[in-house]
Amino acid sequence: MNALAEGTGPDPDTIAELRASFRGEVVAPQDGNYNEHRKVWNGSIDRRPGVIARCAGVADVRGAVRFAREQELLVAVRAGGHSFPGLSVCDDGMVIDLGLMKGIRVDPGAGRVRAQAGVLLGDLDHETQAFGMAVPAGIVTHTGLAGLTLGGGIGWIMRKYGLTIDQLLSVDMVTAEGDLVKASEDENPDLFWGVRGGGGNFGIVTEFEFRLNPVGPEVVGGPVFWSVDDAPGVLRFYRDWIADCPDELMTIVVQRRMPALPVVPPDLVGKLVLAVAACYVGPVDDGERVLAPLKQFGSPLLDLCMPKRYVVHQKMFDPSFRHGCWYYVRSCDVAELTDEVLEVMVDYGRRITSPIASVALWQMGGAVARVEESATAFNGRNAGFTFNINGNSETGHGFDEQRQWARDYWSALAPHHTSVYVNFLMEEGQRRVRQAYGDDKFRRLQALKRTYDPSNVFRLNQNIIP
Ligand SMILES: Cc1cc2nc3c(=O)[nH]c(=O)nc-3n(C[C@H](O)[C@H](O)[C@H](O)COP(=O)(O)OP(=O)(O)OC[C@H]3O[C@@H](n4cnc5c(N)ncnc54)[C@H](O)[C@@H]3O)c2cc1C
Repeated sequence: MNALAEGTGPDPDTIAELRASFRGEVVAPQDGNYNEHRKVWNGSIDRRPGVIARCAGVADVRGAVRFAREQELLVAVRAGGHSFPGLSVCDDGMVIDLGLMKGIRVDPGAGRVRAQAGVLLGDLDHETQAFGMAVPAGIVTHTGLAGLTLGGGIGWIMRKYGLTIDQLLSVDMVTAEGDLVKASEDENPDLFWGVRGGGGNFGIVTEFEFRLNPVGPEVVGGPVFWSVDDAPGVLRFYRDWIADCPDELMTIVVQRRMPALPVVPPDLVGKLVLAVAACYVGPVDDGERVLAPLKQFGSPLLDLCMPKRYVVHQKMFDPSFRHGCWYYVRSCDVAELTDEVLEVMVDYGRRITSPIASVALWQMGGAVARVEESATAFNGRNAGFTFNINGNSETGHGFDEQRQWARDYWSALAPHHTSVYVNFLMEEGQRRVRQAYGDDKFRRLQALKRTYDPSNVFRLNQNIIP
C-alpha cells in the first residue's frame, strides 16, 4: 500500500535513502528542526508533512520529485512560504522546500538578473539596487519571489514597468517526470505563456531570468494618514486625483487601525485611519510635485510620504505582516471607484477591530494594462483596482470574527466584482480558480496541464484540474 493511501509519510528507512542521495537537507518528523521547517508564514496553518526535502539545487529538486512519485506522496512546493491559504505545506506528504536556493546573479551590462527559486523579494532588491536597477515585484520584502512571479506579481513599480511576469525572460523548470526544461518566448513558448500567471501547476521552477529596469535609488514614497471620519472626502478626492496620473505613480489606499511603530506618535496608535500610500518611481522633484496635492488635502494626521531609498520604501509594510500571526484574505477586482464602492469602503472601514486587520486597495493600470490580455495566463489586466481585505489576528483568539468581517466586506462589494488575482485567493474551489483565469484561459491552461502534469502531481496550488 502506498504512503499517501495510508495517510502517513515515508518510513525512516526510505527517508534515509533520500537523505543519502541529497546535497541539501532532509528533515523528518523526529528531527529537532522539524517544527521550524514545517511552519509557514500564516500562523493559522498547522500541517505535519511526512518529510521536508530542503533542496540545494536542481539535482535535489529532480531527486525529490522522483522520490515523491515513487512513494506516491502528496507534494507541496514551498519557496517563500507566503501562500495565504498555506498551500506550500501538507499533512503526511512531502514538502519540496526551495528556501536554500538563494543564488542571484546580476548582469548589469546586459540589464538582466537570474534568481533561484528560494529568493525573497528583499534579497532581489538588495542585489539589483546595488546597480540602480530593479524587477517589479511585491510590497512586502519577506514574500517569496517564486510564488509571486508564477501568479503574476503586482507592486509599487508595476504601473511603470508592468507585472513581475512582464519582465520575465525565461524559467528553468523541473517537470512532474523529474526532467529539466527551459521556457521562454523561443523555447517551449506554450509553457512560458502558462507559467506567467498559471502558478505552480506545471512543474517546479528552479530559476528565473528577468529584465532589469532603472529604479531609484531614491523614490518619493510612503503613506499620508487621515482620520476615518475624513474617509468620505479623502476617497472622493483620491478618485479624482489619480484619474489622470503618470505611470511613475502607484498608490494603495489603506484602511486599518494605526499601528504601534516608532514613527507613529503614541496618541495616534490604535486610531481608525484611512491612508493613501504612494510610490513615485521617477525623478524626486517630479514626485514631490505630483504628490503635493495629496499631502495638502484636508488635515492629515500624519504624513510619512517623502524621498527615501527604494529598498527602504519596499520594507514599509513588513512589520504589518509578521510571520506567525493568523491571516485570512478576501480579494476582488473592481473596474472603478463608484460612489457605491466608496460607500462600502467607508462603512466597513469603520468596523475594523483588530490591530492587524487591514484593507489594501491597489491602483492598477499603466504598463500592466498595456500588455495584450491574451499575452500571458495572468488575467484581469484591465482591472481598475484590486481589493485585498485582510481579516487578521495576532493568534487564533478572535480570528473567526476577523474572518467574518473580511467575508462581509467582500460580499458587500459583490455587485462590483470583476476578476480576481489568483495570488490573493484562499482555498475557494475550482469555480473561483476558473473565475480568476476566465473561461478561455482556463481551458488553455487545462490543455497545458494535460501536457505537463496529466496526473496532477502538482495539485497543492490554485489547481487547474487536468
Ligand atoms: C505578506 C504578503 C504580502 C504579499 N504581497 C504581494 C504583493 O505585493 N504582490 C503580489 O503580487 N502578491 C503578494 N502576495 C501574494 C503572494 O504573491 C503569494 O502569496 C505567493 O504565492 C507567495 O509566494 P511564496 O513563494 O512566498 O509562496 P509559497 O507559499 O512558497 O508558494 C505559494 C504557491 O506557489 C507555488 N510555488 C512556489 N514556488 C514555486 C516554484 N518554484 N515552482 C512552482 N511552484 C511554486 C507553491 O506550490 C504554492 O502553491 C503577498 C502575500 C503575502 C503573504
